[in-house]
Amino acid sequence: MGMATSYSRSPLYSFLAPALLASIFALSSCAAPEPVSRTEFSLGTTCRITLYEKAEKKLFDAAFARIREIEERMSANREGTEIARLNDAAGIEAVSLSADTFLVLSTAIDIAEKSKGALDPSVGPLVKLWGIGTDAARVPEAAEREAAMELIDYRRILLDPERSSAFLLDPGMRVDLGAMAKGYAADETARILKEGGAKRGLIDLGGNIYVFGKKPEGKPWRIGIQDPQDSRGAYLGIVNMEGGSLVTSGGYERFYEEGGKRYHHILDPASGMPAESGLLSVTVVSQSSMLADCLSTTIFVLGPERGMDLAKAFPEEGFALVDADQRVHLVGKLARDFELRSEGPYNLGQ
Ligand code: FAD
Ligand code: MG
Repeated sequence: MGMATSYSRSPLYSFLAPALLASIFALSSCAAPEPVSRTEFSLGTTCRITLYEKAEKKLFDAAFARIREIEERMSANREGTEIARLNDAAGIEAVSLSADTFLVLSTAIDIAEKSKGALDPSVGPLVKLWGIGTDAARVPEAAEREAAMELIDYRRILLDPERSSAFLLDPGMRVDLGAMAKGYAADETARILKEGGAKRGLIDLGGNIYVFGKKPEGKPWRIGIQDPQDSRGAYLGIVNMEGGSLVTSGGYERFYEEGGKRYHHILDPASGMPAESGLLSVTVVSQSSMLADCLSTTIFVLGPERGMDLAKAFPEEGFALVDADQRVHLVGKLARDFELRSEGPYNLGQ
């Protein structure tokens, strides 16, 4: 798809910035063997796997085949995927789903319940209307937004676990798993690599990072988080991790510009507009990249106060919320594992 039009800078650069930071830190403190990487374009983004050992080609083949399989099941933009069939059958009938798609959709509905619909997998009509990240991007009229908002309601998605099926109750409803499917793909990639014998690796699916395995010296991974106000790859801070996933959501990666105003791709189902909740970015660390992906998008929509409340309900995870006053609020594991870059304009929140 033609995406370049809606980026203010080279899409490759914006996709790679967090990855580059991650690999620089990963490499700087480790001795041989030489890392081996492969990059493919999938899930609408750049996907890169790096293994820090002598790696077999077939392990990379299996991992990327799995990523493509997930895209073929969950893309809302391609014809013939399970999500496309589910959307086409809205108001008509239930559609059976693979275990993959069923799991991602039911997790999204669970977080939709916990966030009172700030995250909503039925946000599809609004995503399509704005078209951010596509050639069709535009600022829709209020009446169009209202019509799309009428169709958004996760409670109108009926799941049947026994049949592994879903039914969108109203004609025109559309599911979009863009806020969480990359996370699921990262979890599955990690599983396949580990089961295939990989001991140490870094997976980067368009900024969804997953790391596993120990360094020879037993030191933690050091992953840089992008400064949300600096497009040149400057970092906000560093997260020390033993393993697991780190996901950041922000309004600075994918947006459309009109009349000097930026419209980004994370939409608030309550307003029909790009979320303006007072946050610049949200980073989540978790053993589950799918959960981290869900929660980073959700908290970005909720804003600092409601976002911190939701974060506190997930004691196994870690959170860094960057607000518009350049304060960084740390919750859970990131209160311990995040190092703020001292030269930057940011301060730690109370
Ligand atoms: P996140 O914060 O994780 O998610 C933002 C995305 O979630 C939005 O883009 C929208 O899709 C959705 N969303 C927005 N608001 C809400 C909300 N309130 N609740 C729930 N969801 C919301 N992009 C392309 O340009 N071309 C493609 O062919 C393409 N194919 C894809 C196939 C799959 C299976 C997936 C998962 C994504 C695909 N993408 C494609 C989308 C692209 O990679 C997105 O940029 C990405 O999914 C958004 O991730 P993020 O980390 O930037 O933001
Ligand atoms: Mg997300």
